[in-house]
Amino acid sequence: MIERLNVNDYEFDSWFPGFQISIAFLLSRFPERCSLMPKHEQRIALVTGANKGIGFEVVRQLAQKGYHVFLSARDEKAGRIAAGGLQRESEKQHNGEVTFLQIDISEPGSIRRAVNRFAKHCDRLDALINNAGTLLDDDENALTITPEIFDITLRTNTLGALLVAQAFVPFLKKSDAPRIINVSSSSGQLADGADGWAPVYSISKTALNGVTIQLAAALPKFAVNSVCPGWVRTGMGGSNATRSVAEGAAGIVWLAAEAPQSLTGTFVRDREVIPW
Ligand code: NDP
Repeated sequence: MIERLNVNDYEFDSWFPGFQISIAFLLSRFPERCSLMPKHEQRIALVTGANKGIGFEVVRQLAQKGYHVFLSARDEKAGRIAAGGLQRESEKQHNGEVTFLQIDISEPGSIRRAVNRFAKHCDRLDALINNAGTLLDDDENALTITPEIFDITLRTNTLGALLVAQAFVPFLKKSDAPRIINVSSSSGQLADGADGWAPVYSISKTALNGVTIQLAAALPKFAVNSVCPGWVRTGMGGSNATRSVAEGAAGIVWLAAEAPQSLTGTFVRDREVIPW
């Protein structure tokens, strides 16, 4: 079930005209939040690595906009707890639905299984937010990094995002405004960003920006962007970071839901294009 109430394109308005007026009133009163939207109008989003941190907040903000959001996590228990909490919040506030979808983005088999499960719920996706990421080398430098750290980091932050995008492109192609948002970092910026901190993480985000450019070229009808959330107070960002998760998520949600499609192929922070 995608919608909580299957209005079925207002079919039953013909036998109950007053119902049509009520629905029209509700939709005009709460244009972004009303979950009584007809099936073809409700936007659908998928957020990876969303059991906590920025991804969790992106799910919450998209649900507040009426999206049906697939909250994805590699850990089934953590993901189900996170999705269950947000779904209860959504029911109270009449937001969009939140559904759990397990994906370990570093495992191609896990991505394939997730596609099969997703297809049982939906045949379309409007926004894919490649948010999952790992940081393993914040106390290393380029001379001390190991092949293992390099492999895990790039398999997750770079290849993982590309493989998830490839897997969900058939669903995104059914959207009238498909979007892929890759959550990158200013530490991956070659102009004025990378400064020696967390070298493998930074390289993985520089390469993720390359993935963004290549996907934008391969998918001219899509909006494909990299986004930097700023320095955010999460497990990864630490408690000294300057931004709350709500502030960090806001720019991602804007790209997923509101930004002009013409911004495709750019790197964005706080709704502004920044250098690569
Ligand atoms: P968190 O560490 O809080 O969250 C990271 C999420 O990614 C977790 O849900 C984690 O799952 C998940 N993840 C890691 N590896 C995988 C995997 N193989 N498959 C699926 N999920 C995985 O970090 P943030 O919320 O801060 O980071 C979110 C994104 O924002 C990342 O891409 C990060 O690089 C980026 N970013 C963050 C900044 C910050 O200041 N916080 C700054 C710039 C960019 P699990 O719980 O199982 O580990």
